[in-house]
Parts: sequence; C-alpha cells; structure tokens
Amino acid sequence: MKCWICGQEATTGEHRLKAASLRELFTAVSQARPIFYNSARKKNKRLQSIDSKYLKSKSLCALCNSSRTQAADRSFDILMSYLKGLPPKVLAQSSFRMNRLFPYRTRAHSVQLHLYFVKLFGCLVREGDVRIDLGDFAAAICSGKPHPDIYVAIGPMDRALAGGAGTAGLSDMHCDFYQDGKPAFVAWFMHMGDVRIQVMLAAAGEHRDGLINAWHPSRNKRFLLREFPKP
Ligand SMILES: [Zn+2]
Repeated sequence: MKCWICGQEATTGEHRLKAASLRELFTAVSQARPIFYNSARKKNKRLQSIDSKYLKSKSLCALCNSSRTQAADRSFDILMSYLKGLPPKVLAQSSFRMNRLFPYRTRAHSVQLHLYFVKLFGCLVREGDVRIDLGDFAAAICSGKPHPDIYVAIGPMDRALAGGAGTAGLSDMHCDFYQDGKPAFVAWFMHMGDVRIQVMLAAAGEHRDGLINAWHPSRNKRFLLREFPKP
C-alpha cells in the first residue's frame, strides 16, 4: 500500500486509537487483563497489547507517520488529557476556549489538533476502501492548513452503546454521496472511556444535525461540548 499523504511506500502502522490515550485508559493491558476493541469488522476483539495490529492502520510511510504529524499527535494528547478529567455531565454541556488547552500559539496548535483528525480520517478512508478522494486531506497535512470541510464534535459516550465502561472503539463510517460521486456528508466516531469524538466531512452548504456545536479551527475559538442523540 502507498502512503496516502506523500505516495511513498507505506511501512508503518499508525495507531487508529492513539496509543498514549489507550495506555492512560487501560493502564496494564496484558493476557490477564485484555481490552476489547470494537469496530465495524471486529466485534469485541480481545487484545492483549496496545501494540496489537488491530489497533494500527498501515496506510502511512514512516516520515508521514512520525515527524510530519508529530505536532498533530501532541495536540491530540493535550486534548485527551483535558477531556479525561471531565465527568460525563460536564462533557454533555460545557465549553472551553482553545487557549485554555493551548495557552501559547493557540491558533497553530488548534490547527494541528484538527490535522490529527484529518490524518485519522484519511487512514480510515484508505483502509476501508471508501471512495473519497484524499487529495485535500493530504494537502492540508502537507501545508499545515486546515481542511475546509472537516469538523469535530465532542460529548459523553453512551455506556450502553460503548459496551460498558472502560472500553474504546471506532464506529462504522456513514457516507452520503452526491450523484457525481463526491461526498456530501461523512461521519464516524471514536470513543475512549466516557469521551465520544465525532468527526465529520461536510461539503459546503450541507446543514446536518451532526454539525451543531461542531468545531473547526478557522471558525471557532471555543469548543462547545454536546450531548449526542440516542441511537
Ligand atoms: Zn508519506
């Protein structure tokens, strides 16, 4: 497989769910204390290690997976350590200013945080063979500029939907395409413990419920947390 960002041979495995966050959530994963990973294709896959191949996507080269996206990864770690300290009630209805997460170079770090989701989104598209062109995704990462159509919403994870407390997982990708084959609206979510993060691609002019309180670094200096509708 070729790296979808730069076209070089893809050699490394990007963690679909970030290793540092998983390690914080599941302090000692082992044969005796496995974690259960849920995705569209694997239900309750028993994992004995955070380095399990089920948690990794092989669609990036070493450079794109490391130095090119290191700042993005770090910004995501900062977001997760902030969120994991919040009780579900606060996750359902509160907000924070981006300069609370990133007191220095707030705008640059906010863009990097957004680019982390662009990276993960691209890996999921490539790996799932979803027919979405990744040119704009790669251009955003290479230029360090936001993707104009990718939004993120955060709220509490429904424990019933998660399969209990202390779980992590990725949802299916729900896609609506226009007749010309271009994506109109695409959404997926991941959860880690009580935190649910929904990532969306919405073409200009699309008004979807999922976009309510959704964050984009060029539009919002404040991140509004929200409750997600029950399935
Ligand atoms: Zn690459």
